[in-house]
Amino acid sequence: MKVGVLALQGAFREHREALESLGVAVAEVRTPDALARVDALVMPGGESTTMHHLLASSGLVDPLQEAIGDGLAVFGTCAGLILLARAVLDGRADQTPLGAIDLTARRNAYGRQRDSFEADLRITGLEGPDFRGVFIRAPAIERVGDAVVVLAEHNGRPVLAKEGRVWVSTFHPELAGDVRVHERFLQEVA
Ligand code: GLN
Repeated sequence: MKVGVLALQGAFREHREALESLGVAVAEVRTPDALARVDALVMPGGESTTMHHLLASSGLVDPLQEAIGDGLAVFGTCAGLILLARAVLDGRADQTPLGAIDLTARRNAYGRQRDSFEADLRITGLEGPDFRGVFIRAPAIERVGDAVVVLAEHNGRPVLAKEGRVWVSTFHPELAGDVRVHERFLQEVA
């Protein structure tokens, strides 16, 4: 199995390292050709407006939407979640989300950079201690559709969720020094 990491902007190196530590082959994805050669794709955190522009200018929007429709497994973290959502609140007008998972995300829901925080998360299906969630200018999931399964919550709001082969988190699992969330994703979509 080859896992792609969308490498246009943001925290893609940290995802690459987390995945490689699990022994999977990783490819950085910047073009439709590279996308066509991966079995799963991680979409990192960063700045969703910038990432959206870069997706468009790289010709990746349609191929990505098609690949997800055809069953490509994707894991969007933070800004990646915003890109995958059905609807985005407090986004920019030209920031059309991919609509790959039936939920509504609110950008920067916890405030500015200085309001970033960490919290221990109990995650369904994860053995061992709580997972340290790192939230950086995080979005909040404000609505989930019936088909969405919530795997973790913080203060009553979903922070990790999936619908079929599309996974999203509002936190940064690649910054926890703990690769159990990546591992769970890979186990499920492999
Ligand atoms: N606030 C960012 C955005 O809207 C997301 C932050 C992150 O990915 N850490 O794109």
